[in-house]
Amino acid sequence: MAELEAVIGLEIHVQLATKTKMFCGCELSFGDEPNVHTCPVCLAHPGVLPVTNEQAILYALKIAAALECEVAPRSIFHRKNYFYPDSPKAYQISQYDIPIASNGRLGDIRIHRAHLEEDAAKMIHVGDSGRIHGSGASLVDFNRGGTPLVEIVTEPDLRGAAEAAAWARLLRETVRQLGVSDVNMEEGSLRVDANVSVRPAGSDELGTKTELKNMNSFRFLERGMEAELARQRELIEAGGTIVQETLHFHPEDGTLHPLRSKEEAHDYRYFPEPDLVPIAPTEQMIREARESLPELPAARATRYEGEMGLPQDVAALLAADPETAGYFEQVAGSASDIEPRVVANWVTGELAAALRQDGGEVTAAESKVESGALALLIGMVQEKKISHGSGKTVLATLVAEGGDPEAIVEREGLAQISDSGEIESIVAAAVEANSEAAEQILSGNQKAIGVIVGAVMKETKGRADGGEVNRLIKKQLGL
Ligand code: ADP
Ligand code: ZN
Ligand code: MG
Repeated sequence: MAELEAVIGLEIHVQLATKTKMFCGCELSFGDEPNVHTCPVCLAHPGVLPVTNEQAILYALKIAAALECEVAPRSIFHRKNYFYPDSPKAYQISQYDIPIASNGRLGDIRIHRAHLEEDAAKMIHVGDSGRIHGSGASLVDFNRGGTPLVEIVTEPDLRGAAEAAAWARLLRETVRQLGVSDVNMEEGSLRVDANVSVRPAGSDELGTKTELKNMNSFRFLERGMEAELARQRELIEAGGTIVQETLHFHPEDGTLHPLRSKEEAHDYRYFPEPDLVPIAPTEQMIREARESLPELPAARATRYEGEMGLPQDVAALLAADPETAGYFEQVAGSASDIEPRVVANWVTGELAAALRQDGGEVTAAESKVESGALALLIGMVQEKKISHGSGKTVLATLVAEGGDPEAIVEREGLAQISDSGEIESIVAAAVEANSEAAEQILSGNQKAIGVIVGAVMKETKGRADGGEVNRLIKKQLGL
């Protein structure tokens, strides 16, 4: 059977961090006492009229600009009818056939549409599954009801769980840097649903998809998609067929369970919302949204790859966090004679490791390692004034107490031994003391050289150049 390739499309709900709700003046809040941010509009009392939050439209326009979408000159709201206690109106105000934004892209992934809508209230199920005949109950917190949302829908362009999770992270960073949302998955201000199918590799047709919900971290998102892809592959390879359904992810054990079809049978009977005027952004609003964009991660990563020659993964890693990116650029600026690639490796490699070692509570930019100090340190290692190992020792000191790398090298006596006569005699002693390893090297076991290099490094407290030591050991052995 032909190999099966993964096909994934994501639907992302972004809660907008406006001051007030989508259609009323209630304050937005997370974690407050239940039902304190409510009013007749968001509780759907009879006769109330919604009014659209202009800030939400401006935020949606920023998202549209960042995702390179076309903005509809005139789009309207629709009522999406359904009956459930999380919606006192018994419908959600959303957009239907004409979304505010469409046909965009982020990186290589096409955006189908992005539309404005309101969030539902939050249901809290307590006790025995919350059903009326059990001992449980379902409670409703209306604080969330009416929160502005932008729903972003991709085309089915993603080809694997890891790729989809990485792209979702890029989207989150992008939206975060726009300053329009908290994008916190645990708190639900960013929610990602994944549509997953498989098909014979190379085929143009789409297979039957399932939809995964309730994945409240990127790790769970990836695990959920992986589990579902494995299930679909296995089923198809065994001659079965996929049933289109919605699956709920259970993070406790990583399993996926179908929602009962009753909960899934939709007929929303969309119709135009008669109480709201159309959204008709002016050219100026659209232009201002575009001009307000910071340099976003995707563009930054492209610049790092192109202008600075960084490998793609390092560029993406740095560009994902604007503070670390800014720090990297400062170090690279102070170390203008060092290749940016080398600087990037220190920032994402050695420095990141040293910060983790120190407890991992501060970022590079917040740390005591001044960008100029790191530039100096990298320069000293590059010029072989100190060994790479000593460089890491100095970095650990910089992380702990800050300061000047040259002074630390001086104080700790870490300057590389440049007197080759001195190293040569240490090497000779080490070869003698480790005659067994020397025999092994001579009989062809190259790895055994590590033992002698280690002995020399111990003796010199890491102050010898590794390459030079290797060379001298071989010379000593007559190789
Ligand atoms: P629905 O009508 O079920 O909501 P849509 O066509 O609106 O489906 O698509 C919803 C999401 O599912 C989009 O992100 C889309 O890219 C994705 N999608 C659609 N069909 C498939 C498929 N066969 N496999 C994977 N993803 C898909
Ligand atoms: Zn309200
Ligand atoms: Mg849909």
